[in-house]
Parts: sequence; C-alpha cells; structure tokens
Amino acid sequence: MTAAAADPAGSITTEFSLIREIQGRFGRSDSSIVRGIGDDAAVLSPSDRSDWVVTTDLLAEGIHFDLRTASWEDLGYRAAAANLSDIAAMGGLPKYFLVSLALPSRYAGRHVYRLYAGMMTACRPHRVRLIGGDTSASRQGVFINLTVIGTVRRGRALLRHGARIGDGIYVTGTLGDSQAGLALLQRPRSAPGLKPRMRTFLIGRHLRPTARVREGLWLSANRFATAAIDVSDGVSGDLRHICEESRVGADVEAASLPVSPACRAYANCRDLDLLEMVLRGGEDYELLFTVPASRERRLRKAARTAGIRVTRIGTIVSRAHGATIRTPEGSSRPLPVTSYEHFRSGTR
Ligand code: ADP
Ligand code: MG
Repeated sequence: MTAAAADPAGSITTEFSLIREIQGRFGRSDSSIVRGIGDDAAVLSPSDRSDWVVTTDLLAEGIHFDLRTASWEDLGYRAAAANLSDIAAMGGLPKYFLVSLALPSRYAGRHVYRLYAGMMTACRPHRVRLIGGDTSASRQGVFINLTVIGTVRRGRALLRHGARIGDGIYVTGTLGDSQAGLALLQRPRSAPGLKPRMRTFLIGRHLRPTARVREGLWLSANRFATAAIDVSDGVSGDLRHICEESRVGADVEAASLPVSPACRAYANCRDLDLLEMVLRGGEDYELLFTVPASRERRLRKAARTAGIRVTRIGTIVSRAHGATIRTPEGSSRPLPVTSYEHFRSGTR
C-alpha cells in the first residue's frame, strides 16, 4: 500500500511509524518464523509432519460490530477469538496471525493499539504470533480482517463431512449466552430483574468468548470426532452445515441442550422463548461435533478426566429424516433454518 493512500492514525502518526509501533509492541518471534513483520511477506519454516489450517474473517462496522457497545479492546479480542475458534473447530493449533485494517481518518494510533492489545489478550494464551498485515484508509466505517494460520497433525483435521448415521451429536459448554449478552448490551434496561452477576456473565460471554482450542486439540488427538464445526451462526444453522456436508440428518432433543442458569434467567425475565434463543443464538464459539457410538463412553470418561464439559444433544440419522428437534412435549419439528446472519441483519 502507498503511504499517500492512507494515514489511519491521523497527522500525528504515519503509516510507517504505526507499523513500526505495532511491530515493536505486538510482534514477538519464535524459531519457526524466519521473517515476521517488516518485509514484503512473512517467511515461515514449518515442521513437515503437519497440515496447515488457514482461516480468514472480515468484520465490517455496523454489520459485525458496533463501537457504541464494544470497546476497541473487546473488538480486537472478539475478532481474534472468532478466528481462533475456526482453527479450534478443525482440531488445529493456532500459530500465526495477520491483521488488515481500513480506518476512517478520525481514528488515531491509540485506537489501533487498543485493538491490537485486545487481539493479543485472546492470542497470548495460545502463543499465537503476529506476523504481518496491511493498513489502509477508509471513507466509511472500520474494516478489520484477520487471518490465522495453524497446524494440525497430518490427516487429523476435523472436517464437516465425516458424520455418520448413529453418531452422537455433542456440544461443549453452554449455548445462547452470547445472544443474551448482546441483547443486554443493546437494551441495558430490558431485563431489570436479572441478577448483576448473571448480567456480567452473559455480557462477558458475548464480548470475551473463549475459543475452544484446547477442546479441539483434544478431540483431534483422541480421534473422538467424525465431524466438527464451531457454533458461530447458532447451533441450528451450524448443525445443518454438518448435515449437508455429511449428507445425513439429525435428531436433536430440546431438553438436552446445555443452557447456563444466567441465560435461563434472562429468558424468564424477558418472557422469551428459551429454546428459540438457544437454537438461533450465534457467536457462542462452542464446538459442535459428532462421535461414533463406539467411542461415546470413552469420550465422556476422557472429558471428565480432562475437565471438559461436553453434552450429548442428539443423534445423527438418515438424510431422509431431515434435521429435527424434539420438544419436551414429545412433538418433533424441523430445526429452524434461519441462521444468525439473517437474524442479525434484522436487529441492527
Ligand atoms: P507493502 O507495501 O509491501 O504491502 P506494507 O508497508 O503494507 O508493505 O507492510 C510492511 C510490513 O508491515 C509487512 O511485513 C506487513 O505485513 C506489515 N504490516 C502492514 N500493516 C500491518 C498491520 N496493520 N498489522 C501488522 N502488520 C502490518
Ligand atoms: Mg501493505
């Protein structure tokens, strides 16, 4: 990019000094990085027993985030967590990331450093290194693009297309929290009876989600999962992705969906349909995966030993059956098709 085309940090910082500053503050190296920030491209020297896992995500202001409800640190954290989650869903170990930014001129260097500080908070526990990026001006709105590169043992990536009839369907953690947290940020007075502790928990689940990297590595290392995906669009939509890719159907039991006490209390306070919230709510970044019946006992035992929360929510069935949800009253209906993307564009 040419310096004349962008000066995202305003008159006080040039693009060159901004990049130098980013490099100095956030660019750590390790033995697999031959060259990181500062050249025309990064040079990596990987071990040859791995497959690469590469993912990228573009976030646009007003579509994916709102600077009125999220700080720059939160934004950086969430952007990084979403990408780390994609690597986790493949059973990969995240190692490097690149960041491309387009910023309107009213933002200064300090905003950018806060954004990077948030990203580093998400990346640091996994020792993911910043190895490059690109910087541009923007006439309208902030754009943030992250690329994360990871590795997985050769042939061990967890793909979406491996689910087989009879497999158990599992999910880590709890579902719906992030959606509730987002609603609380957008309408802070909407659930007056909710305990402050629960409010904090739900908002934290939205602004600071945990990428399930450890869980993904564990699934891949133990060969537990036949297919996996992270819950970014809502469990209903994401399970449909697995079904489509694997050419199977799914039978989900509503009563088994893992819900936190805070999420349940929030739905009660607002008189919302908890099941709908849990099925459609996006951005929980939990892992959704399928396990052959012959491996299920071992999975549950290993999960207890490792302190990993996994819940069986249903069974993979034939494609002809479709994707259905069984309610506690015993009726069965198709899983909602609407994904979080559609849901979101209607609410913002
Ligand atoms: P080029 O003109 O070749 O794209 P740049 O001046 O954009 O070169 O980039 C110089 C170096 O700085 C490269 O290593 C690039 O990856 C890195 N870089 C540029 N922008 C960013 C950014 N926003 N975050 C991290 N690294 C960046
Ligand atoms: Mg560039």
